[in-house]
Amino acid sequence: MDRARSYTSMTFTVTDPDARIRNPDKLTEFVKAPGGGFTKIPQGTVVRVDDHRVVATGSSKKVIVFVRALSEDGATVLGWTSGRNFKGEFINETLGAIPPPSGASKKGPNAAWAGGKFLKQVTLVAILDAGYELAYLSMDTIEAYFGLVEAAAGAGVTIKINSGFRSYPEQEALRKLYDKDPNKYAKAAKAGYSNHQSGVAFDIVVAGGAGNPTYDWLCANALARGFLRTVNNEPWHWEYKPDKAAAALAQGTFKAPGVVDG
Ligand SMILES: [Zn+2]
Repeated sequence: MDRARSYTSMTFTVTDPDARIRNPDKLTEFVKAPGGGFTKIPQGTVVRVDDHRVVATGSSKKVIVFVRALSEDGATVLGWTSGRNFKGEFINETLGAIPPPSGASKKGPNAAWAGGKFLKQVTLVAILDAGYELAYLSMDTIEAYFGLVEAAAGAGVTIKINSGFRSYPEQEALRKLYDKDPNKYAKAAKAGYSNHQSGVAFDIVVAGGAGNPTYDWLCANALARGFLRTVNNEPWHWEYKPDKAAAALAQGTFKAPGVVDG
C-alpha cells in the first residue's frame, strides 16, 4: 500500500444520507439534480477514491477535504464529495508526501529539531487528524504509526491523533504569541525546543487517560511497537523511540525514566 497516499488502496462506504456531489470547478457548490434538489451518492454505496483536494476555510488550519469518488470497481466516476460522508470520516488517511524543498533551510518547514539542535530534513506526510484537520508525520515514522493503528483496530481500539510534526516556523509563531501575552496564549517552547519538532511525537486521542480503551491499549501494546510516553501529565503524548521503548518494556513500564502523573 502507498502509505503516503493511503486512500488509493481502500474502499469507503457512504454513510451520510445527504452525500452531495460537488461542482468540480468550485467544490463549495453542489451539483443540482435534473429533477430538482441535489445530485447525491446513495447512502450505503461502496466507493473508491482516486483523488483529493484540500480547501481551506476561514482560519488557515481549518480545511475541508474533498474526494473524487469512483464506483467500487473503479470504472465510473461518481464525482467530488466531502470525505466526511464516509464511515470513519477519512480520519488517518494520508494525503501525499511533502519532500524537503531543494536547498531547504535548517529553519524551514521540513526541518526536524530536538533540544535546540537541527537534526535533519524530513519528508512529511499529510494525514487527517481526529478533528478532520491536516496534521503532518515524518515519513520515517509512518510504518510504525500505521502498524500501531492497525494492531489497535484488530483489538477493536481506535487510534487517531490531534497533532504530529510541528515545523520550526509554526513553533516560532506560537512562541511569538506566547511571548506577547502569556495569559492569553498557550505556553509554547522556544523554536527548536518543542518535542513536536523532532518528527517522532504523536498526540493521540486518549480522553481521560487511564480507563480510556485507547490509552489502556497503548500502555499494554505500544511499547513492543516502539512507542512510549515521555511527558509528565500528558497521557496523550507518545513518541516513537524504539530503543527507549525497549528499555522501558524491559523495566516493566510504559514511560520514559522519570515521567510521572499527578
Ligand atoms: Zn504532545
